[in-house]
Amino acid sequence: MSLYRVEAVVLNHRYFGEADKIVTLYSREKGKLKAVARGSRRPRNRLLAGTQPYSHTEFLLFSGKGLDQISQCELKESFYTLREGLEEMTAAAYVAELYDVLIEEGEGNEELFYLLLCVLHLLIGAKDIDLVLRFFELRFLSLLGYRPQLIRCAHCDGHLEKEQLKISSRLGGLLCPHCWGQDEQARPVCPGTVEMLKQLLLISPSRLRVLRAGAKVRREMEAALRAYLEFRLPRELKSQRFLSLLQDGEL
Ligand SMILES: [Zn+2]
Repeated sequence: MSLYRVEAVVLNHRYFGEADKIVTLYSREKGKLKAVARGSRRPRNRLLAGTQPYSHTEFLLFSGKGLDQISQCELKESFYTLREGLEEMTAAAYVAELYDVLIEEGEGNEELFYLLLCVLHLLIGAKDIDLVLRFFELRFLSLLGYRPQLIRCAHCDGHLEKEQLKISSRLGGLLCPHCWGQDEQARPVCPGTVEMLKQLLLISPSRLRVLRAGAKVRREMEAALRAYLEFRLPRELKSQRFLSLLQDGEL
């Protein structure tokens, strides 16, 4: 049996037994991992606060047979507002689900850890949750090695004219008109959308709120990034359906 420490964000929890939970964490040191939090559903349990979804917590764990167990934890930031407002909650659930579904256990990546923390901060009191999510999707895809090619044609590497472009999730970026036939599912994008995608890849998170996007650009970015993610996802996300209902005003 050995003890180790990690700094982590709780991606989700699942009830287990009478008073226990299994939590999925994304840690700075070891990437994604699952652990048992014994007794953490009892009121006043010392593990209760630090094991709520989206909590940023320091954990002391021990590994033995079966799943690792949480021995102690110290809450650093609860992000509790993300468990209250419907829109923030849905957005945070979506972010957490992408980490859970697209990342294998045991792949440590500090940049992914800091992106997660950064996005949770941005979601608190965000005026433009959609734009925060587009920022997140692009940066997340980039860190996983799927950064969309936006400077040259993703198929022939040729120069791109501004006016006539399509984006292909299968080929990994923009296509010049000569290459449109390479992917029938490639979708047209206007110059404003291309510009906004480039900005989101470069902008510092603290300046995100100065960006403004019109309805067309938003629609195109969302559709393009959704297709991009779906191409890489093993299954439909639960939170994605909820997010769509919310956006369409059906909730
Ligand atoms: Zn081309």
